[in-house]
Amino acid sequence: MKTPGRLSDPGLGRQLLRRVQEAAARAADQLGRPALLMEVCGTHTMVLSSTGLRGLLAGLLELRSGPGCPVCVTPAAGIEALMELARLPGVILATFGDMIRVPGQNGSLELERARGARVQVVYSPSDAAVLARENPNRQVILAGVGFETTAPMVAASLLQASSEYLPNFSVYSLHKLVPPVMRALLETTEVQVDGFILPGHVSAVTGSRAFDFIGRKYNIPAVVAGFTPVEVLAALHLLLGQILSGTASTANAYPWVVREEGNKRAREVMETCFYPGDSHWRGLGQIQASGLLIRDEFARYDAGHKFKVGPPAAEEPPGCRCGELLRGVITPLECALYGQRCTPASPVGPCMVSSEGACAAYLGEVPRRID
Ligand code: SF4
Repeated sequence: MKTPGRLSDPGLGRQLLRRVQEAAARAADQLGRPALLMEVCGTHTMVLSSTGLRGLLAGLLELRSGPGCPVCVTPAAGIEALMELARLPGVILATFGDMIRVPGQNGSLELERARGARVQVVYSPSDAAVLARENPNRQVILAGVGFETTAPMVAASLLQASSEYLPNFSVYSLHKLVPPVMRALLETTEVQVDGFILPGHVSAVTGSRAFDFIGRKYNIPAVVAGFTPVEVLAALHLLLGQILSGTASTANAYPWVVREEGNKRAREVMETCFYPGDSHWRGLGQIQASGLLIRDEFARYDAGHKFKVGPPAAEEPPGCRCGELLRGVITPLECALYGQRCTPASPVGPCMVSSEGACAAYLGEVPRRID
């Protein structure tokens, strides 16, 4: 959707950047340190790096990534379960591209493919259903990874498969929900976050209202942000305004896409097929009602149930600090493996593999002028 009105004006980026820098300097004076802001969306992590905004704000703001990259928060046990499914005879494991190279404990889906398993990258859940129709003699299992943005599309593919009685299609759900992980994060005292940049796409489904608890219960400012540099700057400006005035609420700086009540239809589709269940997050452990489990009515499309595969016990890669990164405790630069033993060509952890991973974002940082 096109950004309307003033936010598309040429030159606004530079003006906004100056105002954000001034506000950040005032906030730093007030707090006695740069304000620590957490972006809870991997796309924002990428925007901050790829536009050079992170560098332009360095020293004035402490920007930390949170648990906003769905591939990164999927624990090694989830990857191992997908690898186990891929090894089953007659199976095609369909996955979104980012997942294929994420290391589990004993390899990756890419390695399973090299060993002979049929692992196929798909670009949407409906592609996986097409694959099932085209391969009636094989079982097609879709790796269900993603937040509230992806889950409704996966649910729609389950509904479609059910209406067609497609017997050889199923989903292994590793889906996760953002508001519960925010609550879990806020209950820890590891990092003093001064403000949250909230995910625009997730909020479009949940509604900005789903994040009201951040200000109400925890007294921390939060702003829903869009994804262009100007939209991110506008959100930062609102966030800093709250910090400077000592207020805390959930504001919406992306109103042309996000409504307070969100997308009711998408949530209905999602809730028809899934229900919230406990889920394990990389770096954050088990979080109550933070995952999406497939309802009993759709059990024949639930790959975990159909093939009796559950997440096995698995260790995270030795030396990898993705868990701390996803809690906002460190930046990628603090991991000893960053850019040395861990690179995009030879990743140790998921944050270096995913297109929304913080380590990949930092490594690919491009200084750029904001117009
Ligand atoms: Fe993990 Fe690599 Fe990032 Fe270190 S640099 S936290 S090993 S992904």
